[in-house]
Amino acid sequence: MDDKIPPTIRALDETVVNRIAAGEVIQRPANALKELLENSLDAKSTNIQITLKAGGLKLLQIQDNGTGIRKEDLSIVCKRFTTSKLSSFEDLNTIATFGFRGEALASISHVAHLTIITKTSLEPCAYKCTYEDGNLIGTPKMIAGNQGTTIIVEDLFYNIATRKKALKNPSEEFAKVADVVSKYAVHNPKVGFCLKKQGESLTDIRTHPNSTHVDNIKAIYGTNVARELLEVDLEDEKMKIKFKGFISNANYATKKPHFLLFINHRLVDSTALRKALENIYSLYLAKNSYPFMYLSLELDPRNVDVNVHPTKHEVFFLHEEVIIEKVKSAIEAKLAGADHSRAFYLKS
Ligand code: ADP
Ligand code: MG
Repeated sequence: MDDKIPPTIRALDETVVNRIAAGEVIQRPANALKELLENSLDAKSTNIQITLKAGGLKLLQIQDNGTGIRKEDLSIVCKRFTTSKLSSFEDLNTIATFGFRGEALASISHVAHLTIITKTSLEPCAYKCTYEDGNLIGTPKMIAGNQGTTIIVEDLFYNIATRKKALKNPSEEFAKVADVVSKYAVHNPKVGFCLKKQGESLTDIRTHPNSTHVDNIKAIYGTNVARELLEVDLEDEKMKIKFKGFISNANYATKKPHFLLFINHRLVDSTALRKALENIYSLYLAKNSYPFMYLSLELDPRNVDVNVHPTKHEVFFLHEEVIIEKVKSAIEAKLAGADHSRAFYLKS
């Protein structure tokens, strides 16, 4: 027998392909929730309630009071690449909404049991639908309900044994979800957010509609940081940068860094920017202690590449160095100014 016979190449089963792709988009409860939160915000919600069981692994539910989903769209809403937000590749340049690839709900339906309850202003009642592998099971059921959408995700990764095994710490998953909710709540003070564990009456996070950034920083991150905040605000017409935020002054330091960065209203991370800013603070703070920073950057959408990865966590932008330099000097000046007035106050 010749043991050098090559193995035959076969196409993978479509369900397997979809499941692998979905597992890339949806990595854990926190990033599933980020997608769902962005959908609720895209749908103009002013109230968003999140309920978790086992850190989102057993149940991840998000209820909003947004536009709802049209009845006629309910059969395709969980198919891959169906979206109400993008129709041509060029649209990616100017896209203002969060979602744009029509992948989130489809992916979730491939790795969890998904139920959608939704009511629009166009219909007298709500509809309840369940989905599996992108498909609507049966037909939408008429039920009573308020305007808006409730997305119920149960038994995440029930069909991906390895992933399920890797995510076995519900409290760690809960903390990651809470982190995402906290950041979106600070960035969207007009919207009321509520996060709780199923069956418990106490909420873990609660903010009210029509609050301010500072109200929400106080409600979530505490009074200690809220009373040591400096407001930063910068606009550069030439570079098309707008930049707002709240940063802690030199009186405040924490062991756990808080860096809340939004670029064009998406929660992202930029190690380069974070490092540059922490560097400035190292002049003021003791070793191994960190500031609180909430920054919202608005860049010309044409200078931001949003189409990087399905999780969309990393955003790349053109002129990154110049932009970081601008933000850095604004913060440097603010901190130096605050320090100066403190010194002056102490001396006089
Ligand atoms: P994307 O956000 O990229 O369009 P999603 O899979 O996240 O893709 O959502 C698909 C579509 O479902 C959205 O384009 C939107 O029309 C609709 N949708 C999803 N969630 C909501 C919601 N909470 N309220 C209203 N419509 C929603
Ligand atoms: Mg989306």
